Amino acid sequence: MKVPRTHPRYKSLKTREALSKLSDEGVVARTGLIAHGRGEAFDYMLGERTHPFAERAASAAAARLLLAKNPVLSVNGNVAALAGKEIIALGRAVPAKLEVNLFHRSEARIERVAAHLEKLGAKGVLGRKATRLIPALAQPRAHCTEEGIFSADVVFVPLEDGDRAEALVRFGKIVVAVDLNPLSRTARAADVTIVDELTRAVPNVTAAVSRMRRWPEKRLRLVADEYDNGGALAEAGRAMAKGLAEA
Ligand code: ATP
Repeated sequence: MKVPRTHPRYKSLKTREALSKLSDEGVVARTGLIAHGRGEAFDYMLGERTHPFAERAASAAAARLLLAKNPVLSVNGNVAALAGKEIIALGRAVPAKLEVNLFHRSEARIERVAAHLEKLGAKGVLGRKATRLIPALAQPRAHCTEEGIFSADVVFVPLEDGDRAEALVRFGKIVVAVDLNPLSRTARAADVTIVDELTRAVPNVTAAVSRMRRWPEKRLRLVADEYDNGGALAEAGRAMAKGLAEA
């Protein structure tokens, strides 16, 4: 379908088309298309823009990533499809490892998502040889790599499933999530939740990393410690309610 550039929903329609194509190619799971639709609905209520609570969360996320000894960015099919280049840029800026980790895990799909990232320029993508398990989480979603998520201190999980986010927190990881749904278990379990659309959120974190890179550890720790995730989620909920009330 040819979408005219003048169409008011041009970006959304183009994104849907790209996701649909990558679903045909087996990078995006079909259920990933449904998750995307849920995200779009929340973004509509936010006026499809980044709010101050998401800016603050992006700074807290950058502080957490810069303070980490072994930060890992977890990539699923939707993340690779929607923001592959952006997540690679974030990985380079921190620097942090990229690990492919899927809800609907199969060796073939892991390979397709990893190959997609490599086609976009990623190096050293982890996930093909997952020899470890996240404790207290049903297989096969628990599979992870020794040098990546298993030994990470900070895990960045854009568009994560609630079970795994909670299991990562129980396992002692600092969890940074991107999730447009402030009510989701992921949003509530994470230490830092950026309630913003992925393609806006990831470049914001990269920009914050560049801005804060030379800050002393004490200053970074202050940003991380002062951040109030519950307060940010409540603000996101209010912003959505306001968006609906003004309709
Ligand atoms: P949970 O299991 O955490 O309680 P859930 O069942 O909604 O929540 P999923 O179905 O795995 O979890 O959905 C992933 C989440 O990602 C959804 O909450 C959705 O709002 C969000 N989401 C989808 N697309 C985007 C996007 N492009 N940017 C940010 N968030 C998104």
